[in-house]
Amino acid sequence: MFPPIREELRGLEPYGAPQLDVPVQLNTNENPYGPSEACVADIAASVAEAARGLHRYPDREHVALRTALADYLARDTPHGIAVEQVWAANGSNEVMLQLLQAFGGPGRSALSFAPTYSMYPEYARDTSTTWVQGRREGDFSLDLQAAAALVREHRPSVVLLPSPNNPTGTALPPEAVTVLCEAAASSEPQGLVVVDEAYGEFRREGVPSALELLPVHRNLVVTRTMSKAFAAAGLRLGYLAADPAICDAIRVVRLPYHLSAVTQAAALAALRHAPELLGKVDELRGERDRTVSWLREQGLQVADSDANFALFGTFADRHAVWQDLLERGVLVREVGPAGWLRVSIGTPAEMAAFRQALSDVLVREEGQP
Ligand SMILES: *Cc1c(COP(=O)(O)O)cnc(C)c1O
Repeated sequence: MFPPIREELRGLEPYGAPQLDVPVQLNTNENPYGPSEACVADIAASVAEAARGLHRYPDREHVALRTALADYLARDTPHGIAVEQVWAANGSNEVMLQLLQAFGGPGRSALSFAPTYSMYPEYARDTSTTWVQGRREGDFSLDLQAAAALVREHRPSVVLLPSPNNPTGTALPPEAVTVLCEAAASSEPQGLVVVDEAYGEFRREGVPSALELLPVHRNLVVTRTMSKAFAAAGLRLGYLAADPAICDAIRVVRLPYHLSAVTQAAALAALRHAPELLGKVDELRGERDRTVSWLREQGLQVADSDANFALFGTFADRHAVWQDLLERGVLVREVGPAGWLRVSIGTPAEMAAFRQALSDVLVREEGQP
């Protein structure tokens, strides 16, 4: 057999949405707005400066970047965030893989509640961590009693929960975080609860960030990314906030100099432009709410969304709808429970194209026997 790949990986396809070159790409929850010329110039100048020192390894502890990230996070919690509580890596995917490398492994388990982000079972598989999957309710919320009971039964080392959830858009209420942190803390060794706030900045008015709960639960980890609200998916920068002892444990498994000098310089420059890069978030939230209402007016089911996408359906043949939209130049994502499709929120022009294309497809569907 060649190549002599691990038994459990044999025949598997790599994760990833189709990258198709179509006019309206609404399939990977990117921010549709790019950086301004001023921001581009600042990033370029910072990277040029970093280039002068490329014969040296970068700051392994990326202290300047962690300090800037801590300052940025402090706006979402009255308790503040210290630099020792922050850790960054190449995308929040790498942050979560590092968490599983440090806290999962053979004889340990990780748990989430489906439907959810399909990378989680891959982190578990790649670190030989047993994967346990609970279920969400029909409205994609969690039954807290059942969820806590599942945690007490399996004693997972890591519970992974996106808030808002991908692909449903569902935010976790603070009491859910508390119930799960308490259930995970009741085993020995304690389990960690990772709240993945990749879409945190898009949450609706009045929905708090789990960052507020960090002083209460030592086993809580909140992850964030610059890929979505921050409009920097190409940068590959994700980070977490947690107890400093959790950051110290990750330090043991991280590769030396995992964050390049170029990445650190570009991320620092992008953070200096945070107000601009985040400026479009409010517009996107408005566009999201209008998209959800419009889909409901078409008689479709739509999950309540605190993110920059909407899950809608249900279709007897969702693949046919996906294909018909693609033929009209609109790429959405075929993901989530059977019958549902997910659309990322784009610019007003992109959403108009999406509405037009979907209207055409729905009329055609109705015309069929
Ligand atoms: C997009 C996304 C991420 C972000 O991944 P990066 O590696 O930071 O680009 C993390 N979690 C969820 C649930 C996501 O949808």
